[in-house]
Amino acid sequence: MPDEPLPAPTPLAAKSPYELRVDLAKDFPEADFRTALATGEVGFLHSFTTGSTVDGPGVRLVAWTAGCMWRCFYCHNPDTWTMRNGIPVTIARAKEELSKYGHGLRVMSGGFTLSGGEALMQDRFAVKLFAAAKGMGIHTALDTNGYYGDRLSDAELETIDLVLLDLKAWNSQRHQRLAGMDNGPTLEFARRLAAQRKPVWVRFVLVPGWTDALDEIQQIAGFSADLGNVERVDVLPFHQMGRFKWRELGLEYQLHDVEPPSVEEVERACAYFRAVGLKAY
Ligand code: SF4
Repeated sequence: MPDEPLPAPTPLAAKSPYELRVDLAKDFPEADFRTALATGEVGFLHSFTTGSTVDGPGVRLVAWTAGCMWRCFYCHNPDTWTMRNGIPVTIARAKEELSKYGHGLRVMSGGFTLSGGEALMQDRFAVKLFAAAKGMGIHTALDTNGYYGDRLSDAELETIDLVLLDLKAWNSQRHQRLAGMDNGPTLEFARRLAAQRKPVWVRFVLVPGWTDALDEIQQIAGFSADLGNVERVDVLPFHQMGRFKWRELGLEYQLHDVEPPSVEEVERACAYFRAVGLKAY
């Protein structure tokens, strides 16, 4: 009987991070896993995508990491919660991917964004990748929930041109309910970035009935404005594009009945940020 053909390996490139990807590192040995995290020689990636215009200035190449310590109930990529779902990628291969797009990114004034999951779950890999991108003259952005910001030294932060900082909620109990963990380290990281005058774009997901309380938005707006280094705020309307992943992964999804916010509701949220002098979109 002929041997079964081996399944084709999952390509590193994806059309979008909404592709469901699971178990791609399931056979990666546990001991090598620990070494990979400690050295950054291997990362665990959901995918690379090209052509994004919302993850930093210009057109972006985005690497989506696997692994996140939070459990936001509106997360649209819960398959990126565990590193075992990601593709093991050597730093050499990741650099090769960067260099393929380097010229185009430079001439289009775009850049490279590391997102997730939570990119700083793999902080050593992130540091190596940012240093490589800077070495190629590519603009760099880190999209992060900020919880592990203290894993980056000041010198390592120098290789990151822009931080896209996700602020989910202000009140710490509300944040705990929403994301499963406290927002103290995130706010601390925000203050550190401000002290260093590092450009920041705040990202705030508007989920009707969950994150649209007026006092919450005003507190986040006031905090962001006081930092002095926030260049813009992106109010991201909640959507249902990731719902199928929760079903496929057997996770309990609480937001079946939540409609995306209307254009007017998004505008209203933006208005609170603009009222304190911030650019909001
Ligand atoms: S921080 Fe991001 S990746 Fe992590 S659970 Fe929340 S939305 Fe999902």
